[in-house]
Order: sequence, then C-alpha cells, then structure tokens
Amino acid sequence: MRALVYYGNKDVRLENEWSDPELLNDKDAIIKVNFTSICATDIEEWQFGPNYINPEDTPVVHGHEITGEVIEVGKNSSSLKIGDKVAVNNVIHCNSCFWCLKGQGGACINMKVAGFHENGGLSEFMRWPADHLIRVSDSIPDEHGALIEPTSVACHAIRKSGVRPGDNVAVVGCGTVGLLTIQVLKAAGANVSAVDIRTESLQLAKDFGADYVFNSSDKSIVENMLEASDGIGHDIVFETAGSAEAPKISIDYTRRGGKTILVGIYSAQPKMDFNQIVFFEREVIGSVGSAPGDMEAGVKLLNQGKINPAPLISKVISLDNVIEEGYQKMANDPKGIFRILVKP
Ligand SMILES: [Zn+2]
Ligand SMILES: [Zn+2]
Repeated sequence: MRALVYYGNKDVRLENEWSDPELLNDKDAIIKVNFTSICATDIEEWQFGPNYINPEDTPVVHGHEITGEVIEVGKNSSSLKIGDKVAVNNVIHCNSCFWCLKGQGGACINMKVAGFHENGGLSEFMRWPADHLIRVSDSIPDEHGALIEPTSVACHAIRKSGVRPGDNVAVVGCGTVGLLTIQVLKAAGANVSAVDIRTESLQLAKDFGADYVFNSSDKSIVENMLEASDGIGHDIVFETAGSAEAPKISIDYTRRGGKTILVGIYSAQPKMDFNQIVFFEREVIGSVGSAPGDMEAGVKLLNQGKINPAPLISKVISLDNVIEEGYQKMANDPKGIFRILVKP
C-alpha cells in the first residue's frame, strides 16, 4: 500500500510499496482509511523533531487524526463489524501504570500514540485495537470524522477544567483546537469569550457560538474582557495559541482564584512572571492529548450535531501530493489554513 512514512528530522517519504497491515492478535481490526487530517504537531515533528517519536520506533507511518471504515476484525474484537464507520482513538493507555490507576490517563507513562509510536493513518490501510475504534453515526459526513481527534483534545482540556454551566470562560487562540474548544464549551453551557488577532478566526468563533469576540490587537481589550466577565475576570481561560506570549496573557485574563488551562504546545519558550500566579492564587493546569472517555465524548457531540467541523476543513488532497500540498504548505504558508485532509 502507499503510506507517508516518518524517518526523522525533515525526512518524511511517500512510500509506494509499504507492507499492508495485518492483525497482530484477535482483538485488532483493520480499517480502510477514509480521511486523515494533518496537524501542526505533525509539521513540528517533521521540521523540529523527533520530539515525541522515539528514534527506535522509526520508520513509522505518520498521521494521528484518522477516520475510516472497518474491513477486517479479529474474532475477539467486541462489537465492531465490517463496514462500520469509525474514528480512531489514537491514544492507547496502559491501564496499569501509577497514573492510569489513579485515573490520570493523560499522564500515562507507557502511552502509545498512532503516528508517533505506532503506525498511523497517512496510509491506505491501518491496524488498530478494535476497542480503540469508536463508531461514528452513518449520517455524519466521512470528512468530519478526521476532526474528532482535535475535538477530543478540546474535550480533555474542558473535562479537566471542571467548567460549570454559566461560568465565564475565555479561549485565547482561535485555531482548530481553539474553535472546537469554543463549540464544546457552548455545549457545556459556558459563557464564552474568544480572543485572536485574525478577524476571520473571530468571525468563525462567533459563528460557533462565542458570546463575545475580542481582537488581541485592540488596546482596550483588558477592560472589555473584564466587562464581559461581570467585572471580575474569567473563571477559566483556555490557552490554545501556543505562542510564547499567550500563557502570560491567558493568566492575566484569569480572575483571582480562577484557572488557566494550557493546551498550546510551545516551540518558543514562554516568558512568565510567576507572581501573577502566586499573588492571585490562580491555578495553572497543563492538558495534552486525551484520556479515556474524552474521544467518546467528542463523538457523542458530533453525532448529536453539537459540533460542526465543516468550516475547519480548509482543503482535501490525496496521498500523492501530501508532501507538497500538505506538509510544505503548512510549514511555509499556514495562513488561513485550519486542517488539510488527506484522502488516501
Ligand atoms: Zn493533532
Ligand atoms: Zn499507564
């Protein structure tokens, strides 16, 4: 089969004769990949990595935001049947380490992630444990399934935050994960402020239900944000921009005693005055990937029509031009791109 394979720093190759996946045990399944979306993390890994990929796991098929159709199931593979449309729960937790046993799967020390430690979905076919393939309703367009992984990242951060209906919440950064975070927060009953510097992203935030939008270049943003949060400041602020200055800004927008959830991944080291945290008794929480239950929550919201990923699909390309039209485009000219989907 054809597959986009990660060999190392600045070295991904389209292989035309990569071996087809096979069931490794009777709890596995094979899917035909319908769509895999390219994520900024893939580009980071290609340009600046390996960060998460262990060199001993290479070469490895890239791609971790995957949806497909079941074409083969092991005889002990639970409830799946041939033809089921599924999203790939790309994170396998060990369920036996100290962290898993404490219910903190997001910090699992033996975590295996598709496209990083195990072969991912930028390929025609993929093997994966059947109990990590989540059924997607037939009424959902196939393309939308590829956005379930970033939705699970949003669900993970929101579930960790303990947000309650009516809370004043801000999302700093309206890229793909930020805009999905806004949609999930609205489903959770929060009062949502969105912050970004790009007017088209703020328009989408509004379309997705944000109650207030703020352009970060606006000089009166601090007063306006305060006004939008009852003069108190936001109860919870999600930082999804990943830029060096975003954590400081996000902590500033958090009320005394409130929470800042850091979801961005920082390629440049953020500058921080830690007294911003200490003096105001704020809590700062890191959130990465997903834990058991987060992706199921995302699929449920998608199946119920509470999330609309369609405006986040910037274009669809084939595996033949995944390097030029996908990876290089996102590395050189990411402006206006949310997700590029690959149809193998
Ligand atoms: Zn991703
Ligand atoms: Zn574990």
